[in-house]
Amino acid sequence: MRKLFGIPFPSLAALLLLPALSALPAGGPALAGEVNVVASVPDLGDMASRIGGDRVKVTVLASGREDLHGVPVRPSFIPKLHKADLLLSLGLDAEHAWLPALAADARNNRIREGREGWIEVYPGIGILGAPQVISRAEGEQHPQGNPHFNIGPQCGRIMAGNVARALAGFDPDGAGAYEAGLAAYLAEIEPAVERLRAEGAPLQGVKVISYHADIPYLAEFYGMEVVGTLEPKPGIEPSAGHLAELAAVAATRGVRLVIHNQAQPSKLPGQFAERIGAADVMIGNMAGALEEADTWLALQRYNLRALLAGLESAP
Ligand SMILES: [Zn+2]
Repeated sequence: MRKLFGIPFPSLAALLLLPALSALPAGGPALAGEVNVVASVPDLGDMASRIGGDRVKVTVLASGREDLHGVPVRPSFIPKLHKADLLLSLGLDAEHAWLPALAADARNNRIREGREGWIEVYPGIGILGAPQVISRAEGEQHPQGNPHFNIGPQCGRIMAGNVARALAGFDPDGAGAYEAGLAAYLAEIEPAVERLRAEGAPLQGVKVISYHADIPYLAEFYGMEVVGTLEPKPGIEPSAGHLAELAAVAATRGVRLVIHNQAQPSKLPGQFAERIGAADVMIGNMAGALEEADTWLALQRYNLRALLAGLESAP
């Protein structure tokens, strides 16, 4: 080991250099009490920024264009997680394939899975598709029930409440500010969500098929009926046999829309929609999925416009 002034260099670095470096936050000096928040997905980064205001510094890992279950891990994620006070995630194993291992690699015990800084925002949401037995057999991606609640407009209120609670739990001095931030955010989204419900009335009772089982909360909100999925099970590639069975069901049920998101293959849903005489609709799976869906609320609006346009064009 190299020695400097008789002290092994790494120890010297640990004593002198590293504390100095770690005290320098990226991007300039921190405000007193600034909370370092890392969000797995842009939906939660958006909410944390809106609720936390100046008290929080928010970093988001996913760009929003990825598959929620398979966000490619970049080396730049590790230093972000190393400095995090709170790690916000959807939970219900939505990020199971990429986030817990990253959090474990970040040398920050606070934000490891199950620790006080690891925050999942699903509590309070009426979980759809909860299985009888928790299992990841055959690549099952939804072992604890369906985790795609972020595209259900009805779920934003609960997600935001959980974000505010997590911020106040870490930074009690800011509790009043977070409460006010939450109230202001809800005052914006709640009337907007009610407008979505009214504008989405034509979707009531419409029968749809999705690529992945990612639309049950969206379907619940607008009263659409999900007849099936192109994937035989979440995360399992569509097979010719399964598609033939599904096409037969679709014909008897009068399916109008085949829905996929921006991260999924578009060719197969397009072909399948044509095969069954339905419209092919592309929605976004999280904030940031598309340029015009850069916030959680913008995503909900984008998805409604896409669904209504699909219904207009359905054969
Ligand atoms: Zn899924």
